[in-house]
Amino acid sequence: MKPWEKNIRQVEPYVPGEQPKNGNVVKLNTNENPYPPAPGVEKARLAFSDDSLRLYPDPAASSLTDVLAEYYGLDSDQVFVGVGSDDVLAMAFLTFFNSELPVLFPDITYSFYSVWADLYRIPYERPALDENFRIVKEDYYRPNGGIIFPNPNAPTSLVEPLSFIRDILDHNQESVVIVDEAYIDFGGESAVSLLKEYENLLVVQTFSKSRSMAGMRIGYAMGNSSLIRALNDVKYSYNSYTMNRPSLVMGVEAVKDDAYFRETIQKIIKTREEAKSRLADLGFTCLDSASNFLFATHKRVPAKQIFTELKEEGIFVRYFNSARIDNYLRITVGTPEEMEKLYQALARYQ
Ligand SMILES: *Cc1c(COP(=O)(O)O)cnc(C)c1O
Repeated sequence: MKPWEKNIRQVEPYVPGEQPKNGNVVKLNTNENPYPPAPGVEKARLAFSDDSLRLYPDPAASSLTDVLAEYYGLDSDQVFVGVGSDDVLAMAFLTFFNSELPVLFPDITYSFYSVWADLYRIPYERPALDENFRIVKEDYYRPNGGIIFPNPNAPTSLVEPLSFIRDILDHNQESVVIVDEAYIDFGGESAVSLLKEYENLLVVQTFSKSRSMAGMRIGYAMGNSSLIRALNDVKYSYNSYTMNRPSLVMGVEAVKDDAYFRETIQKIIKTREEAKSRLADLGFTCLDSASNFLFATHKRVPAKQIFTELKEEGIFVRYFNSARIDNYLRITVGTPEEMEKLYQALARYQ
């Protein structure tokens, strides 16, 4: 070992889903939206002038926080934006989880949470989901240094009602509770409506899934203005200019076109509901997804085998080789045409 090597931070990084270089694949592995962003986004992209890239962007990203605040009926100082919700969540871990007590999140959930906790040396515990892959809310009724879970949860796809979130908040007035709503637009009720009542609640959303802009990297947090101020203080201690100019301009355009947003979501929901019955016919059991992906296990054929064989045919889905879920596939809802190719490939396992 070189002397300086002992000072290198040892981390086990998050492993994102594969982004195949070959474009000619059916890509159902990272929960991207199969439809393009709103037409206004493309127009804004084309109208973007090179000269404006010479200048730094607005460090407060006010154009985007303002339009989001208006959309959700909040004040501008209740919204924080970042480079995808991964950036927002990482910043939230750094800002809010500074207790000696463990942060709590489910054993089966977005696998980035434990990575950030390890990176920032935050203690954590992971209460197990029940045998139906549901979060057990009573597990969160104990002293803790913070709580975070996605709703709908990933990769299970299951959503909990607002009453469930409220129960967790009612039992946790002393730590920050973060609800990661990456998939809320595809089913379920946003906890944004609870912000008026709970000043320790932070709701995080993203443009990557329901707004078709994973490539642009925009995420946001909504909460009490004192939480948002704390996030900004950390951001300005780290990197003042997280949001580049094109992201700000195109993000605003995406929020403005609510009709397109709703229409796209409805298409995905329709395809998802069809997929539930088609996959059932093909021998799969799917959890009752409220998101833009399905969590499915086959009655006979191991998930890993299906994953590998689909990949050989250019159909990418996600497989997690970890306890309790290693016989499941996470399948993003694509276009009806993409799904048809999937069903055809799966027919041989019937
Ligand atoms: C996709 C996802 C995110 C991160 O998305 P960004 O692209 O970084 O906005 C966060 N949480 C969950 C649960 C996700 O599935």
